[in-house]
Amino acid sequence: MNPLSDHEIRKSFVNCSRKDAANLPLPPGLRQLDWSRLEYLGWRDRQDPRRGFAVVPTSEGPVGLVLQTGAVPGGRARAAMCAWCEDVYLADSAVLYVARRAGQAGRDGSTVGTLICENFTCSENARKRPPLPYKGFDMEAFIAERIEGLRHRAAAFAASVLR
Ligand SMILES: [Zn+2]
Repeated sequence: MNPLSDHEIRKSFVNCSRKDAANLPLPPGLRQLDWSRLEYLGWRDRQDPRRGFAVVPTSEGPVGLVLQTGAVPGGRARAAMCAWCEDVYLADSAVLYVARRAGQAGRDGSTVGTLICENFTCSENARKRPPLPYKGFDMEAFIAERIEGLRHRAAAFAASVLR
């Protein structure tokens, strides 16, 4: 994704108030990020571990989302697959993140949820190289396809928050 400034990150948020967007904690190490290896920017709130943030590039520009983990009885869904990166190696467990929808719908309490890697490691997961399944397997094409899939599914979720 393209690098974003602090200002651009804050400006991108669609499902919280301007005041909340101005006050939310930015991801640590923002200056050191390798943006070329990220399909979206995701981070957790250190003060409130049940809150996360994701900024997803879309054709309309970056869309910032405030996400809340669901209070699932019995803890996280350990065997769940992340709906964005579809990582099957479970390096990071997927949890249900719920986003308030943008605009009036959100103010009326409407939300959308999705399973995402708890620590937003999707971009890393998509680049993981599985053991070669057979000789001549096109690993580069496989990785490129996973990255494209992640980009597409993250943008589709952002669109569902905006709808
Ligand atoms: Zn993921």
